[in-house]
Amino acid sequence: MTNERVSQYSHWIGGRAVPPTSGRAGDVYNPSLGLVAARVALASEAEVNAAVIIARAAFPGWAATPALKRARVLFKFKEIVEQRRGELAKLIASEHGKLVTDAAGEVTRGLEVVEFACGAPHLLKGEFADNVGTGVDSYSLRQPLGVAAGITPFNFPAMVPMWMFPVALVCGNAFILKPSERDPGAGMLMAQWLTEAGLPPGVFNVVNGDKVAVDALLNHPGVDAVSFVGSTPIAEYVQRVGIAHGKRVQALGGAKNHLVMLPDADVNQVADALLGAAYGSAGERCMAISACVAVGEGTGDRLVKVLSGRVRNLRVDHSQNGEADMGPLVTAAHRERVASYIDAGVQEGATLVVDGRGLSVKGYENGFFLGGSLFDQVKPEMKIYREEIFGPVLVVLRVPTLADAVKLVNSHEFANGTAVFTRDGSAARTFVQQIEVGMVGVNVPIPVPMAFFSFGGWRRSSFSDHAMHGMEGVRFYTRLKTVTSRWPDDGGKAEFVMPTMK
Ligand code: NAD
Repeated sequence: MTNERVSQYSHWIGGRAVPPTSGRAGDVYNPSLGLVAARVALASEAEVNAAVIIARAAFPGWAATPALKRARVLFKFKEIVEQRRGELAKLIASEHGKLVTDAAGEVTRGLEVVEFACGAPHLLKGEFADNVGTGVDSYSLRQPLGVAAGITPFNFPAMVPMWMFPVALVCGNAFILKPSERDPGAGMLMAQWLTEAGLPPGVFNVVNGDKVAVDALLNHPGVDAVSFVGSTPIAEYVQRVGIAHGKRVQALGGAKNHLVMLPDADVNQVADALLGAAYGSAGERCMAISACVAVGEGTGDRLVKVLSGRVRNLRVDHSQNGEADMGPLVTAAHRERVASYIDAGVQEGATLVVDGRGLSVKGYENGFFLGGSLFDQVKPEMKIYREEIFGPVLVVLRVPTLADAVKLVNSHEFANGTAVFTRDGSAARTFVQQIEVGMVGVNVPIPVPMAFFSFGGWRRSSFSDHAMHGMEGVRFYTRLKTVTSRWPDDGGKAEFVMPTMK
């Protein structure tokens, strides 16, 4: 299904790959080579409907399966992924363009959510209080919702689905994944492995597709909950339409993550942190640092002097090259979009210190490569600061004080992640307290929460009441039932006033 010999991704419904019927398909590229590597079926409304019917039929049996047994399927899935991690990482790298080592890291972070979900018997324990009234006991249950759908972006084709389905499944839901049509391979491979792990047919399904499939899921009365991760306009759309159709929705959007460098921070440490956080995965991470705010006189000069040489020396190469620092961008269209932001930055008057345009990688001249770019003297009103570029482009702004930096970060449209670099504990504490951003790092450039915490931004980086995974995920994929119970010895008598404790 995913090797070189097979070039067509269909759908995974009812525990097997099913041939597509819509007649529509899209290209999947190998971005390092700049070639079409596969075709992916784009589902019709009817194909989505078929998946929902099968998921709904599978739901009652799975919901009635003890949580311990559900968790055992995930334990087995974890073993399979661990044994074949290399295969999954290679597939991700070949379709996304990120380095194989980076893809392996993505799989590890996803597996941590599987490990968290394996604790379901404990996580799903309710609360109990005896004798809340004479002879009356009370307890709470967390029960599954039904069918949950996951709509995921191209940049983490394994990890982002794994933010969702392990928790949804272990809570007793059936699940339909709609992966990004740009790199659908990881979703299909994980579906196969879940089936090998013993998941009953129909409990986990994959429909490949585009807007047609997303709209069909959002409109379908058989879908109870939707988890979305992607760009802000689509996140906002998914939340609005999903809620209008009575679904529970969590929708995470785009980002512009700031690293705030205080004057006392070690410049080498900050430069190294920025190198990985801004240019790793070619900047195609929702937690990538894409703006650096240098605080105080001379801080920006010191940073740019050290950083510029390191950005120039970034090794950009084929995603399978273990020595490289970053690979290509996901598609030619995305590379052009990122390059157009660099053009815009120059036109707006920012100083382009390192220009990544025009890079050619020897032997892979058709690949979608772009070198690292660095802008200095960027102003808050510039498009390269206001908008998410989602490529290897870092912009440096300068402000006089920590209070100005906090004000700047808090005024941005996006509020996914941020970091402060300093040796001053008091300044760091002020930053943590005052910053209005969902995930905060102190001398940690990419503060992605561990699986047993929860992932989610603020403002227009998230349109959700619940963040992903951790206990927030358990709450999202379950609903609360509270039972008040009494076993009377006598017949009792009718009561017409509000019941109170006697
Ligand atoms: P995208 O919004 O283009 O696509 C995400 C999903 O939505 C895909 O499955 C796609 O098929 C679907 N989609 C696209 N256009 C649609 C439309 N018009 N109607 C309905 N569905 C549509 O995002 P992307 O380019 O795949 O991913 C990059 C974006 O995702 C960036 O903005 C990045 O910041 C964001 N992201 C955010 C997080 C987070 O946790 N906040 C994590 C990863 C990525």
